[in-house]
Parts: sequence; structure tokens; C-alpha cells
Amino acid sequence: MSITVTAAVVREPHADLVIEELQLDDLRHNEVRVRMVASGVCHTDAIVRDQVYPTPLPAVLGHEGAGIVEAVGDSVRTVEPGDHVLLAAAYCGHCARCRAGQMAYCENLFAADFGGRRPDGSTALSKDGEVISSHFFGQSSFSTHANVVEESVIKVDDDVPLEIMAPLGCGIQTGAGSILNQLKPGLNSSLVVIGTGAVGSGAIMAGRVAGCSRVIAVDIHPSRLDLARELGATDTINTRESDLTEEIMRLTGGVGADYVLDTTARPELLRQAADALALRGTLALVGAAKPGTEVSFEIGLSLVKGWTFTTIVQGSSVPQVFIPKLVELWKEGRFPIDKLVRSYALEDINQGFADSASGEVVKPVVAF
Ligand SMILES: [Zn+2]
Ligand SMILES: [Zn+2]
Repeated sequence: MSITVTAAVVREPHADLVIEELQLDDLRHNEVRVRMVASGVCHTDAIVRDQVYPTPLPAVLGHEGAGIVEAVGDSVRTVEPGDHVLLAAAYCGHCARCRAGQMAYCENLFAADFGGRRPDGSTALSKDGEVISSHFFGQSSFSTHANVVEESVIKVDDDVPLEIMAPLGCGIQTGAGSILNQLKPGLNSSLVVIGTGAVGSGAIMAGRVAGCSRVIAVDIHPSRLDLARELGATDTINTRESDLTEEIMRLTGGVGADYVLDTTARPELLRQAADALALRGTLALVGAAKPGTEVSFEIGLSLVKGWTFTTIVQGSSVPQVFIPKLVELWKEGRFPIDKLVRSYALEDINQGFADSASGEVVKPVVAF
């Protein structure tokens, strides 16, 4: 059954989102109708609004949804009406990477997450016949309701506070998964996290869960570095005040860092971090740069370090497996994401984007 929904629509790059009434299409066999309770605002929403990635406009974005299932398509098996769900990135489910449990590296990731269309070319959203892109990350959660692909849906217990947990679907999972699924730091190792937004905050909390004895947070905002300490960082570096390489070497007693996770994708910081790696250290990039961005590394003296550079997508997570683990960590008090969240009404969504861009708020969440 097609219904009317209220959604935040991107009509022009760099312009404010517009609150509009839209028609939401009938449910397809593999889709779940979710009544949205909350949705996080992510940096990726802002760069797609600005068309760094070309999801066709007009579009409804939003990819950290959380809500309650109202109906399910015929082939849906993992949830039923009434279930509480968190939403994560979509994947095709049938390529070689998906079959290997590596859906963060799905061969059809761009179409599934940024295409704005179903595989058959249709969209779920329209306005009096005008086509509106839907299925952003399989969901388009800046809307009171969405038709979500089953791959994006994760069932959680009814007592999980959706307005706090919504951001687990993207940024927080990316940071935490990079540590717990991919880098898997050894006990008492050192971890440097560059950039303390949502992704970096997830990595800091996960570093302590993993048993890192030293977690060094790097940023340029003093208030964010204070928050990083609350989340578990043992040390902080403000790169406006001190040299990144020198400070990492000093804080690690001249040994260097075992792991560096960079969320900023700034070439000069990547280079400085590489120069501060310990023997067998790993530098991992999760931040998104403009296509064509390059970075240079010293490869003469650093050869003997046996070091690694790697990139990580979506925390290398299987969302249906990993996100419930993060919920458990939160219940145990070991993953305090409520410290990151500020709530906004849907009408104030542009303020949420602005507060995220300025660094005022780590994780804006729209509450419906
Ligand atoms: Zn795939
Ligand atoms: Zn995101």
C-alpha cells in the first residue's frame, strides 16, 4: 500500500534540505516498511548533499535509521511487524565478497548505497509524479517511513533506546569495527586515532574494549579532545599546537604507535602518522577523500619497519553480527555513545548538519 510520508529532501547541492510530503511506494517482496523513530546525521549525508558522490537529486538521504517494523515483504525472513530495528549500509548479498562475509567490500556497493534506485531502476519515493531518489544505503531514513531492503535491517531488543543507538549503523560502527574486526590490536598495544568525530569516537571506545593500554586522540578542537578523554582516550594531541610525529614518539617513549586509524583523509597527517609508526605498525585509513587524492610515504628508512598501510570500509563489519555486539557493550557501560548524541526535530535537520560541520556536536540525531 502506498502512503504519504514527511521527509527531508535534498533538491540542490550545498542548499538546505526541504521538508516535504512525499508518496512512499508499495512494499516490494524483499523490503521492510519501517516507521522511523530516529536517524543519525553522518558526514556522508553532507558530502552527498553537496554531490561529491553523485546520487541523483532530488533525493531523500539518511542512513543511520532506527525504528519499528510495520510490514514486511513476502520473502523477508529476519524480522516481523512490531520488531525494533537499527538500519545499516546495504549490500547486494550475492557477489563474491558478500558470499565471503565481506559485505563492506560488496562489488555492487555503489549501486546498493548511492544509486538512489532499486536494482530494477525504480524508486520508492515520488511527489505528484516527480521521481525522488530513495534507498540511500538501502534506507533513506530522513523520512517518517521508509521501504528498507532486508540486508540493511538489524533486529534489536525492544528495550534498546533507538534515539541513542541509531548512529551505530554507520559512523560508530565504522570506527569500532575498524579496531575490533580488522586491526584487532594486541593487549597493551598503542593506538592513535586521528579525528574525533563519530568514527574516531567509535574507535577510541573500541580501543579500550580491545585492551589497548594507550589510546591517543588527535584533533584540533579542545572540546572534542576533552570528550575523547571521557570516552577512554589516555592522551590527546592538538595538531594546532604540536607536531603529530614528535608527540606520538614522545607519548610512546620513542617506540612509535602500533596502530594509527585516520578518519580525516588529510595527506599531511597520514604522512606524519606513518613516520611515527612502531616496528610492524599499521596505518589504516577510513576517512573519505576526493577522488584522485594522493599521499607520499618515505620508503627508504621505513623499509626495515615492516609496516602496513591499509584502507577499511564500514569497519569490515557484518552489520547483523557486529551491531548487536555493540549494543551489548553499551548495556555493560563499556561503550558510552550517549555522550556523543544531540537530538533534533526533523524541521531542524539543517541545524544538525551545521552543528556537525562546525564540530559543535559529534553526532546529531533526528528524532521523529
Ligand atoms: Zn555484494
Ligand atoms: Zn555514514
